[in-house]
Amino acid sequence: MIRALRVGVFTLLLFGIFPHFAPAQTTSGGAMAAPSVSPNAAPAQSFNVDAAVEQYLAKMPPAERAKSNAYFEGGYWLILWDFLSTVFVMWLLLHFRWSARMRDLTERITRFRSLQDALYWIQFFVVVSVLTFPLTVYESYFREHKYDLLNQTFGPWMRDQLVMLAIGLLLGAILIVLLFWLVRRLGKNWWVWGAVVAVVFSAFVSLIAPVYIFPLFNTYTKLQDSRIKDPILSMARANGIPAYDVYEFNASRQSDRVSANVSGFAGTQRISLNDNLLKRCTLPEIETTMGHEMGHYVLNHEYKGLVMIGVVIVIGFAFLNWGVNFALKRWGERWGVRDITDIAVLPLAAIVLSLFFFLMTPVTNTISRTMEFEADMYGLNAARQPDGEANVDLLLGEYRKMDPGPVEEFIFYDHPSGRTRITAAMRWKAEHPETASPEELARPVFK
Ligand SMILES: [Zn+2]
Repeated sequence: MIRALRVGVFTLLLFGIFPHFAPAQTTSGGAMAAPSVSPNAAPAQSFNVDAAVEQYLAKMPPAERAKSNAYFEGGYWLILWDFLSTVFVMWLLLHFRWSARMRDLTERITRFRSLQDALYWIQFFVVVSVLTFPLTVYESYFREHKYDLLNQTFGPWMRDQLVMLAIGLLLGAILIVLLFWLVRRLGKNWWVWGAVVAVVFSAFVSLIAPVYIFPLFNTYTKLQDSRIKDPILSMARANGIPAYDVYEFNASRQSDRVSANVSGFAGTQRISLNDNLLKRCTLPEIETTMGHEMGHYVLNHEYKGLVMIGVVIVIGFAFLNWGVNFALKRWGERWGVRDITDIAVLPLAAIVLSLFFFLMTPVTNTISRTMEFEADMYGLNAARQPDGEANVDLLLGEYRKMDPGPVEEFIFYDHPSGRTRITAAMRWKAEHPETASPEELARPVFK
C-alpha cells in the first residue's frame, strides 16, 4: 500500500501535476526519497531554521538568561535536598520512636483502627510539616523572592501554606485509611490493589480540584473580553472541543509567571489561562498557548498520563512492599514498629517511596515532557502562530533554563526546553512561510 502510494506520488511529480514540488526533485539525492522530502526544500532555501532559532534566543537579554539558568539549575539540587531532608526527618521519627509513640497515643484514644490511622496521620503530617518548614520557607518563599518570581508578602504566602496543610490533612487521611485497610485485608498482595487505589484516588482528586481546591488559592472567572474569547472559542470548535467558556484566574496573586492549563477529569475538565498571560502577551501568543492546551485536551493527555503514571505507581508499590519488609526485618524492633500493617510504619514507607520517585525523576519527567511536546505541535497546527509560539517560549524562559544539554533536558525537564520548543516552531514556520509574523518577531518580550 505504502509503496504504491509513493510510486503514485512520484508519477504525479514527474508529470508536473504538483509543479511547485519540482525544484525539490533536483536538489534531493535519491529519487525514491523525493516525495517525502520535497515539501521541506522550497522554503528552506530562503529560511534558515537554525539562524531563526538563534535570532529568537538572542531576544533574551544575557542578564535575564543568567538569572533563569541559576534559578533552574538550583532546582536540580533542590530535588536532592528535598529527598535527603525527607529521609532525615523520617529517620528521626523512627530512630527516636516518635512514630511508635504517636501510634500508642491513638491506641489509647480509640480502639477503631481506621480512626487510629486517621489520628496518627494528623500528628504525622503536622510534625513533618513543622520539621521541614525551614526548607519549605527557603524554597518557596525566600528563593522565589530572590529571583523575583513571587509577588506575595509573607502573610498571604503563609495563608496559602496553611490551606495546603489543611487539604493534605483531609485528603491524606482518606488515602491512608483506605490503604491501611487494604494492607490488613489483603496481606501479602496488598500492593497491587494499593496501587489501584492510589491511581483511582488521583483521578478523584483531579476531578474535584477545579471545583473545590483551586478556588481556595485563586479566583476563577469566565473570560469576558470577546476580542480574546471569540477567537479562542472558534479555535475550540475547529478542534471539536465542546467549550462555551474559557476560564481566567488571578495567578498574579502569586507571581508574574505566564501559564495556562487543562485541569479536571471527566465532567470537570476545563481550560484556564492565567491573568499574566492576558496582560503580558499578544493575541497570537495567547492563541498558540490555548492551542497547546487544546492539544492536551484533544489528545486525552489527562487520561494517558494517569495510565502511564499508574504503571510507575504499580512498580513503586511493589518496591514499597519489598523495601518496607526488608527494613522491618532488620530494624523494626528497634523502631517499635510491629509489621507492615502497623500505622507507625508510615515514616519508613515515606523513605522507600521517596527513594523510588527520586530515582524515577527522569522517567516521570519524560512522560510529561513527551506529552508537552505533542501539545506544542498540536498548538502550532491549531493556532498557526509559530512566531507567537517562540515568544511565549521565551517568556517561559523566565523560570526554565532556555538552552540545556540533551542529557540535562532528559533528566530534569518536565516540559521541553525553550530551545527545543523554538526549534520546533521555526521548523514548522519554514514549511508554512505564509504564517510568518514580522510583528511578533520584532516584539521585545523582555523589558
Ligand atoms: Zn502543557
